[in-house]
Amino acid sequence: MEHSFAPFATGTATAPVISRVETVILDLPTIRPHKLSVATMNGQVLMLVRIHCSDGIVGVGEGTTIGGLAYGGESPESMKTNIDTWFAPVILGQDATRVQALMARIGKMVRENRFAKSAVECALLDAQGKRLGLPVSELLGGRRRDRLPVAWTLASGDTARDIAEAEQMLDLRRHRIFKLKIGARAIRDDIAHVAAIKSALGDRAAVRVDVNMAWSETDAAFGMAALADAGCELVEQPVAQTAALTRLVRRFPVALMADESLTGPESAFELARTHGADVFAVKLEQSGGAFNALRVAAIADAAGIDLYGGTMLEGAVGTVISAHAFATFARLQWGTELFGPLLLTEEILTEPLDYSDFELTVPNGPGLGVTLDEERVAFFARDGIRKTISLPEGKV
Ligand SMILES: [Mg+2]
Repeated sequence: MEHSFAPFATGTATAPVISRVETVILDLPTIRPHKLSVATMNGQVLMLVRIHCSDGIVGVGEGTTIGGLAYGGESPESMKTNIDTWFAPVILGQDATRVQALMARIGKMVRENRFAKSAVECALLDAQGKRLGLPVSELLGGRRRDRLPVAWTLASGDTARDIAEAEQMLDLRRHRIFKLKIGARAIRDDIAHVAAIKSALGDRAAVRVDVNMAWSETDAAFGMAALADAGCELVEQPVAQTAALTRLVRRFPVALMADESLTGPESAFELARTHGADVFAVKLEQSGGAFNALRVAAIADAAGIDLYGGTMLEGAVGTVISAHAFATFARLQWGTELFGPLLLTEEILTEPLDYSDFELTVPNGPGLGVTLDEERVAFFARDGIRKTISLPEGKV
């Protein structure tokens, strides 16, 4: 090879190749039950994928869902099975430096499975960033901001407890945007809950709601008017159908955000074409990865739709790849909800993420810029060392 001084060359025999794909399921406890109209979460399950390359570099990615299968067709367990069985053979031995070409290769063999694709793409980007000494945000076009505002979700289901939690977050200067999960109870009870919280917090905080598709269109027409009166500034996915969203948008003095309806660039284009939302909640897993999330953001920009950085309540790895992507958006008018790691009681990074002054700092090191604490990962692995810890004699 003529250019043997180069550490590697892309698309040549000297380029590093993918040598091993490894997946693990982690079960992590949450600080409290997290109640949504679709599910109550008492813990979080993360699927971590590690992609090992022939140059010794290892990239990590994460696949997580909200409430197991309550949100969509993939679960952390199905992602693990599908990556082990179907994704790995497609990428093993391939040039590890060509992330978009690898994702296109996977796309030919795997039609759906956006969440698993997002996890694998994240691991490839982490590895390539480490290889080049660049943060993932630079591989995605270059960051425009180093800090991202982070909303907090109040979802205990109890009004007084939610107000106390919001006051605590304001005191800690951690969050001043609060999203309330509603839709599981009678609509008038939900409105009273939102109004009580907004009235307690006043101008010190913004209040938004997420209905997670629980309402009918007539419920939503009543609910959005009442929420606007209560001082709520944004309603997220009140109904399931895109056509219904389109009929509801701009009828009330409250912004309408699409979340579950956004499943990547094609649905984003359809929502933009029909003007079915004022705001897009962009999620990397829902979009099928960071590059697709950037495409969704570009469609929103072109259509005059605002942007918000959404979460699938990922742990640290899924949160950080999202932060890198959102840091590149031209506009991010409604901030983000990248609080997933704060919902977990356990830290799995050697150095925790920096949440301070109402914002999250986007890490600046190579790749994702974070390091897993391998002992903690092994401890929380579903089939890991925790399983080998036995009850004391006589307690079985
Ligand atoms: Mg939502």
